[in-house]
Amino acid sequence: MACPHENPRDELRALSAALAGRVRRARRGGRRRAGTGAAAVAADESPGEIADAGQAQSTLPQKPSHSEPGPTPAMDSAVPSSANPAPSSAAPTTLEAVRSQAAACQDLDILRAAVATCRACGLCETRTQTVFADGDGSAGILFIGEAPGANEDEQGVPFVGRAGKLLTDIITKGMGLERERVAIANILKCRPPENRDPSTQEKRTCTPWLDRQIELLAPRVVIPLGKHASGHILGSDAAMGAMRGRIHELENGVRVVPTYHPAYLLRSPGQKKACWEDIKLAMSVV
Ligand code: SF4
Repeated sequence: MACPHENPRDELRALSAALAGRVRRARRGGRRRAGTGAAAVAADESPGEIADAGQAQSTLPQKPSHSEPGPTPAMDSAVPSSANPAPSSAAPTTLEAVRSQAAACQDLDILRAAVATCRACGLCETRTQTVFADGDGSAGILFIGEAPGANEDEQGVPFVGRAGKLLTDIITKGMGLERERVAIANILKCRPPENRDPSTQEKRTCTPWLDRQIELLAPRVVIPLGKHASGHILGSDAAMGAMRGRIHELENGVRVVPTYHPAYLLRSPGQKKACWEDIKLAMSVV
C-alpha cells in the first residue's frame, strides 16, 4: 500500500498537526477536571495540564489571607475563634443581655471588651468611655467603688482623681503594696452625669458585669468603699456605720470588709482612723 505522504516534509507536517490536536484536546480535558477539584488535577500526568489547572483554580473564590485587608466571609465572622471567643457580637441593650453576655465571658479581657460595648442603660449616652478596672489583683485584694467621676471617665481608669490619690496612699503607704498589685473596680462602669448617685435601676443593670468580674478575679478579700458598693456586695440596705468594722463572709467563702469611700474621707477626715482599722482587718485575712 502506498504511503499517503510520499514527501517526507508533508509527512512531518501531518504528524505535527496530529500532535498539536492531541495537546489541545488534553488541555481542554484538564480544565474541566480542575473545575471539579484540585485533587483530580494533581493526579493527572501532564505538567502542562497541572499548570493550566492552577490558572483555572485561581478563578475560584479564595478565602482572604490574614495579611490581606478585605471583608471577612459572613460564615467566618459567625464562628467564634477558640483563642478569643466572643460571647456575642451584639452590644447588650437589656439587663438580660448583660447577664447572659457576662456569664459567657471566660476571662477578664473578654469581659472588659464586652463591657466596652454595653448600651444597657442611659449612661452609655453621656460617657466618654467605660471604666472597667485597674491593677492585676495579684495581692488577692479587690477594692470596689461606686462609679467613675470626670477624671476616670476621661482616662478610662478608676480612682485617678483626688479620691483616687487618697486610695493610692492607703494602698502604698498604709498597706505597703504597689497599687498595681490590687484590683480596683466600680459597681457602675459608666459615669453618672454631674457625679450624681447611681440610680437603683442603673445599679441593677450594671452589676452583673461586676459580679462576673469578681468571679473571674477570685479575690481573697473584697473591700467595698462606701454605701453603694457595700450594700450591693452584702445585699443590705443597712447604714455604712452598721456594715463596716467587721469581717463578713459570703457563701462562696470570699471575705468582705466594708469601709468608707475615700471621697467621704476627704470631706470627713476624722473618719480616716476608722478606715485604717478596717484596712487592718482586711489585711488580716489576706
Ligand atoms: S453603666 Fe453599666 S449597664 Fe449602663 S451602659 Fe454603662 S456598662 Fe452598661
